[in-house]
Amino acid sequence: MGSARITVIGTGYVGLTTGACLASLGHRVTCVDVDEVKVARLAAGRVDILEPGLEELVSRGLAAGRLSFAVGSRGSVWNAQAVFLCVPTPMGARGAADLRAVEAVVDEIAGTLPPGCVVITKSTVPVGTAQRIRDRLGRSDVPVVANPEFLREGTAVSDFLNPDRIVVGSDDEAAARRVAALYADLAAPTVVTDAASAELVKYAANCFLAMKLSYVNAMAELCERLGADILSVTEGMGYDHRIGRAFLKPGPGWGGSCLPKDTHALVQVAESVGFDFSLLSAAIGENIAQRDRIVAKIAGAVGGSLAGARIGVLGLAFKAGTNDLRDSPALSVTSMLAAHGAEVTAYDPAIGGDLPGMRLVDDPYQVAKGADAIVVLTEWDEFRRLDWSYLADLMHGDAVVDTRNLLDPPAILAVGLCWLGLGRPRVR
Ligand code: NAD
Repeated sequence: MGSARITVIGTGYVGLTTGACLASLGHRVTCVDVDEVKVARLAAGRVDILEPGLEELVSRGLAAGRLSFAVGSRGSVWNAQAVFLCVPTPMGARGAADLRAVEAVVDEIAGTLPPGCVVITKSTVPVGTAQRIRDRLGRSDVPVVANPEFLREGTAVSDFLNPDRIVVGSDDEAAARRVAALYADLAAPTVVTDAASAELVKYAANCFLAMKLSYVNAMAELCERLGADILSVTEGMGYDHRIGRAFLKPGPGWGGSCLPKDTHALVQVAESVGFDFSLLSAAIGENIAQRDRIVAKIAGAVGGSLAGARIGVLGLAFKAGTNDLRDSPALSVTSMLAAHGAEVTAYDPAIGGDLPGMRLVDDPYQVAKGADAIVVLTEWDEFRRLDWSYLADLMHGDAVVDTRNLLDPPAILAVGLCWLGLGRPRVR
């Protein structure tokens, strides 16, 4: 398409990254949101999400006149050649994807899209959505293309600009190829397929990753019971190129804004066509069990009962490198601790303000004051570099529950603390 006129609807992690990166590739991009405050801040170059390089790309796009921001979709698509839908598709009734935001945007733009403009779903949407959008638009002159996004929060810009692959799918192959051409400057393999397959690729990939994590969490539990070490087990597994090393670290359960909703949505989609996806349902069940096991481990570390126990928590974001708390396993664990009567004090380098069920502090050492146990729930590298001798002095108890196997056990032992990881021998 050369330099195209693009409208991106929704300026969250996916939409803002898409808009800023497409502008950096030479396209002229208008990013649209319903949130007026967000749009005003973005138009002034202010980015509120923690994404390395994103604010800089936004500033450069604004300065070059290739990136602009607007409120409301209807008036922002009249001269677009491509419109990307990047609005939320959260978990709705019975786990299915809630498509109301997508439908609302489609209804808003249907009458103002110029002939030949391509509508592109970048939001994660269930199989059949491209067809439903076409029906809803009622425009034979506007093709719809599924182009799922695979970026990860915390590395969104770099993932967008260096993707493992680009997937475009449509029942109008020429339209799919026009969308692929928008990314012509990126050196990535491109899968051009039908709409249903493109929509399913995203779920197939995310659900596979969730199952891999559930598998490794279960394996860590098995290691504890059998006296094996998950570090050695996953090292031995990871050298097998059919398995790979990624997503082989146990943790407090998988979470974030995508894996929980996408796994539930695929189970629902499967059910709708009479298929019981028991493998995936089991991975979801295992993820719930993992949180229960973590809470039981923390209870064990403070003598069996959490009632009145003081727990210092390090890390709340669903993973390091982001300030996203959506469906964070750390929040599930802290709320379970509070429900069992524990007093929770928490610190996260990227999170401020107030959160229910805990005292949030802005200094990691404050979580240790009088604590019976310290629990690491997010793998922020800076936790490794804390003065653990000072933390030990501040604590009342001596337990460190490291649900990310982040710390160096001998260093924790050396300051007189007891280290409990996941799937690893206890060090005391
Ligand atoms: P987000 O919540 O960060 O951002 C969504 C934005 O859309 C918000 O700014 C919201 O104000 C705006 N919005 C909502 N309704 C709107 C409307 N009617 N018109 C205009 N703007 C509207 O969401 P996100 O994390 O960017 O996810 C968006 C989609 O991308 C979801 O389907 C998600 O599953 C998918 N996805 C997310 C990730 C990720 O890592 N976050 C990765 C790949 C795919």
